[in-house]
Amino acid sequence: MEFGHITLRQIDFKTKIQSSDQFPLFCALVKMDSKQFREAAKQLVDYICDYHDNIRDRDVLPAVQPYFLEKQMPGSAPENGEPWTSVFNDIEKLIMPGVNKVMKQRQEHMRTEQKIFKGRMKLERMTHWHSPRFHAYFPTASSYPAILADMLSGALGCVGFSWISSPICTELEMSMMDWLGKMLHLPSEFLFSSHGKGGGVIQEAASESTLICMLAARSRAITKYSSSSSPKNKSPLNKLVAYCSTQAHSSVEKAALLSAVKIRSLDPDTNLSLRGETLERAIKDDREKGLIPFFVAASLGTTNSCAFDNIIEIGQIYIWLHIDAAYAGSAFICPEYRHYLNGVDKADSFNMNPHKWLLVNSDCSALWFVSLFKIIDLNTNISNLD
Ligand SMILES: *Cc1c(COP(=O)(O)O)cnc(C)c1O
Repeated sequence: MEFGHITLRQIDFKTKIQSSDQFPLFCALVKMDSKQFREAAKQLVDYICDYHDNIRDRDVLPAVQPYFLEKQMPGSAPENGEPWTSVFNDIEKLIMPGVNKVMKQRQEHMRTEQKIFKGRMKLERMTHWHSPRFHAYFPTASSYPAILADMLSGALGCVGFSWISSPICTELEMSMMDWLGKMLHLPSEFLFSSHGKGGGVIQEAASESTLICMLAARSRAITKYSSSSSPKNKSPLNKLVAYCSTQAHSSVEKAALLSAVKIRSLDPDTNLSLRGETLERAIKDDREKGLIPFFVAASLGTTNSCAFDNIIEIGQIYIWLHIDAAYAGSAFICPEYRHYLNGVDKADSFNMNPHKWLLVNSDCSALWFVSLFKIIDLNTNISNLD
């Protein structure tokens, strides 16, 4: 397949372009029209299926050394675009060497297992998270339906930053968040269908969800304390303190760093569960020091050991309660595990990751609030910061 050769410089940007001509123009820039796209996409679909059909034969962990790629890459981007065939060949050569080789070896009925294994070790340069032999970190889901959805959303390329920027995008998200919320048996205040203040929104990561909730809680605390009559609380930012267990995901501490607030990691009990009493004691100590406790992140299923903080006890304490159920949250869909979520009615925000157990490609993190207005307000009172 050889494409015409148009470079960026050859396009006359001063030419008046009707908006309906934009897509063909972009296609000309990348040298691919719909006919070529059809062919390339079909080739790629075959490649994806072969990869998944043979993933079990690959070595999960590659044996390459840091900076191995630098030596094989040109120092800068090519001046002229390259045809798809050469880009496709680069996938084989640079990213996933050995897809075809592994297949050929299979076809030769794997004469000597040992030789093939050693050969593969040298080839691999990717950690195969979806291999059935991958047991590190946490699961990251992928599935053919999710890949199809990614293709469609890539093709539609809609930008959903507000309702009018693409109404179906916003409304489908609202519907899906309500469906998922109902499957998890979240209290109705978290759902749009209750027509209250609550609802859910898709984020890219649980880390981002915690950060957003901490910022919202910070905003609420700053508004409350800077309007208080006491002059010593006029600039509360450097007095705010957040809490989590020592078992919490590292993203909680990172969120505090980014929010410029203090964070205290508290010791859990022998079951690695953070208890209400421990939090209460820490809050009392900090208040005596003149600090302002404003946020606690409780985990339902820690990444390290799947431990559960005691949210029934923690929920009795009146500071923003964010529940991080990124890892184990999907389990609450099963009625026999739902009781682990008891106490969620006291939470301000709740998050779980469909991209871990629910066969949805990364990134997809689901975040619900009892009051979405606290997040919308974030934009308006940011000027209250020091
Ligand atoms: C995986 C995990 C996170 C981080 O998830 P990302 O979506 O990768 O940011 C946070 N908390 C817990 C408990 C997790 O298991």
